[in-house]
Amino acid sequence: MPAAVALDRGLISDPALRPIADKIERGDRLSTDDGVALFASPDIVGVGAMANAVNRAKHGDHVLFAANQHINPTNICTLRKTCVFCSYARLPKEDGAYRYTLEQVLEEAATANSTLTREFHIVGGLDMKAGLAYYTEMFRALKANFPHVHIKALTAVEIAHIARIDKMSVRETLIALREAGLDTMPGGGAEVFSAGVRATIADKKLAGEQWIAVHREAHQLGIRSNCTMLYGHVETYTDRIAHLSMLRDLQDETGGFLAYIPLAYHPDNNELGHTLHREGTATSGFDDLKNVAIGRLFLDNIDHVKTHWVMVTPFISQTSLHFGVNDMEGTMVREKIYHEAGAHTAQAMTLDAILRLIRGARKVPVERDALYRVLRTFDGDPSPDSVVPAPTASAAA
Ligand code: SF4
Repeated sequence: MPAAVALDRGLISDPALRPIADKIERGDRLSTDDGVALFASPDIVGVGAMANAVNRAKHGDHVLFAANQHINPTNICTLRKTCVFCSYARLPKEDGAYRYTLEQVLEEAATANSTLTREFHIVGGLDMKAGLAYYTEMFRALKANFPHVHIKALTAVEIAHIARIDKMSVRETLIALREAGLDTMPGGGAEVFSAGVRATIADKKLAGEQWIAVHREAHQLGIRSNCTMLYGHVETYTDRIAHLSMLRDLQDETGGFLAYIPLAYHPDNNELGHTLHREGTATSGFDDLKNVAIGRLFLDNIDHVKTHWVMVTPFISQTSLHFGVNDMEGTMVREKIYHEAGAHTAQAMTLDAILRLIRGARKVPVERDALYRVLRTFDGDPSPDSVVPAPTASAAA
């Protein structure tokens, strides 16, 4: 159960939030009705104050980040026509389609020997020619060449795809990938679990219950993972809370999730954005902050809530550090997926820019590894007057 947390009640102006504040002060778990009420409330200061208090009770002023490197080995995907929110996927013969050879993966990964990179984050499309052998060969080569780098790879949707094309069970697939070097799994592919929402935005994608089943299997094998929710498209507040409830239930069962990461939908260059007349209109800062704060309050059994600056801008990410967030996306060499969908942020951020961003929020930057173990704390030179930095693309971007 969550710990009891003292709140500054003067910051909460919406009367509908008072019973929720009572629960937080008593250390009671929030109900699904409470979750919906939090989303429905206009009192963003009140919601944020509660999330901030809960976060500070767990993590103080420390904000974690990791030096990671994204590798997207293939954008060829069998669901190209049915995931209507996706801007990244291509059919095999479509302009811009690519599948890296092993040499190309190693070439891209080589940046890790000249930077602080401690984690490869590897995700891509559901490519019929990228099965188990493609990934086990890749992971073995990465471990041989970069033994110090953790491999966080393959969403539940990709794992299920590999299992299907290689005619193996999910469990057998996970064991084979782990033997080849897979350390943890990212949390993508979850979108929103509601069957109705999936029928609209990702009709043929792994169902919510199946996504949960893959992560359960991974956790039972000792493979930790993250979890996500893609918000800001056609889902309702009830859909969001039903999704978070499924994540919370699995965490009660396995304890395998490391972090929750709300992902903002980007409407450019995809069919859904065009249909909804949303192109050029990303999610609002109000909703971005609400999502991290409610994630912190509702998911009382997941230690870390992460902000993804590529999606919501570094400025919203910085502000979210006072709305329940204790973890910030890291240096991210060469992000592709959200830039295809219209993200205008840089594709990488230097260590110095991350430190200034966190310190600018009057927080203490802490570098972590992929399993959230502290590597070093940057507690010198807090630079209280530092201004919000403009993120700069690293030389590698
Ligand atoms: S969201 Fe993933 S599964 Fe769906 S089309 Fe894009 S790459 Fe393929």
